[in-house]
Amino acid sequence: MRRLLLALPFALLPLAVAHADDTTVKHGSLGTHEHGTARVNAALDDQTLALELQTPAMNIVGFEHLATTDADKAAVAKARALLEKPLALFNLPAAAGCSVASQHLQSPLFGDVMPADDDDDDHDHDEHAAGAEHHHSEIHATYEFTCTSPDKLKALDLSQVFKTFPATHKVVVQLIAPAGQKGLDATPDNSTLSF
Ligand SMILES: [Zn+2]
Repeated sequence: MRRLLLALPFALLPLAVAHADDTTVKHGSLGTHEHGTARVNAALDDQTLALELQTPAMNIVGFEHLATTDADKAAVAKARALLEKPLALFNLPAAAGCSVASQHLQSPLFGDVMPADDDDDDHDHDEHAAGAEHHHSEIHATYEFTCTSPDKLKALDLSQVFKTFPATHKVVVQLIAPAGQKGLDATPDNSTLSF
């Protein structure tokens, strides 16, 4: 229910411009998949901070196939452990008193069966099969925090995301806060967006 409520306001935001290149493919309901680029949606409402991270698995683990070797499995486990520490990953200030109310990770690499496309965009399954040489996978993480002093949340700081997952070069951020909604194409040199 909460996730549904969060998802609604983002539907009102203009779609980010997709940069077409060789690593960009349409993923049906997953939207644009571009290696090096991730998306973060954030919404702050009173004491509740909701964060959503959607990223090609390439940015996080360095590959997108299902892990079969021990090395691949170790890389997936390591990435998962990092994603399961969102207070550190999103550099939330201790003064804000945020605690994780819920978190959910989803990816084929984590053994999840991804939902079938049930939206009405023009995803073409034949195209998918024809171009199956590189099978693309994403990681989708949703978090909800309860913050006792949300006024201490001055900015969303993605510097740790870039440091933790250095194959991530850009994060398309959309933020909804009491002051309004804004967006940023965050980079390692420009990684904060004020609430
Ligand atoms: Zn990919």
